[in-house]
Amino acid sequence: MTLAARLSAIDTRIADAARRAGRRPEGITRIVVTKFHPASLVRELHTLGVTQVGENRQQELTAKREELDELDLTWHFIGQAQSNKAGAIRRAADVVHSVDRVKIADSLHRAAVDDRLLDVLLQVNLTDDPGRGGATVTEVDALAEHVLGLDTLRLRGVMAVAPLDEEPASAFARLHEVAARVRALEPDASWISAGMTGDFEAAIDAGATHLRIGSAITGPRPDRG
Ligand SMILES: *Cc1c(COP(=O)(O)O)cnc(C)c1O
Repeated sequence: MTLAARLSAIDTRIADAARRAGRRPEGITRIVVTKFHPASLVRELHTLGVTQVGENRQQELTAKREELDELDLTWHFIGQAQSNKAGAIRRAADVVHSVDRVKIADSLHRAAVDDRLLDVLLQVNLTDDPGRGGATVTEVDALAEHVLGLDTLRLRGVMAVAPLDEEPASAFARLHEVAARVRALEPDASWISAGMTGDFEAAIDAGATHLRIGSAITGPRPDRG
């Protein structure tokens, strides 16, 4: 299958899943995760109409954004955010999905260089393993309150990766509850970033507004760790 065929097959599945869930497909944003793939692939996706792309490493994000600066693309940073990279992340990303602690929120806030707001999502850890990225379900409210106090960040919602050892539907149902609590604090924080190649239909069922789909569209990632 060509890239165009894979993209359109995924879009058909997204639209079908949305309709089955009684949702409008237009209410769902499909982010194509291009990590480990060259900038030329992002360029090709752009010619196919893709406008939302995701990267999980700051250096790769920075390099691709520089190389493709003339293209009208929205860059989503979906990887673990390190405080010492906050300035570079802020310069290269339009949306940061992985704010999971006060320290990274503060670093992103301090890295502001103009009055442009940075859209951020709070990453929620849906596993029992504290070593995985994300704030715990109980930490999220306090983190949301903190972010709402930082006037260079715009809180847009929550993000999570489904655990490997649980049905995605039940994990995403927990995320949906957390999302409702965050939305109660800030009505504009209505985004739910959830769903990857293996579980995006379950995520759509559970109200995901932003899907992060990589390999089903791009093909297997080149072997780079
Ligand atoms: C790589 C990645 C994805 C996309 O994964 P696929 O299984 O290739 O669709 C989504 N979210 C995050 C956080 C990722 O790192």
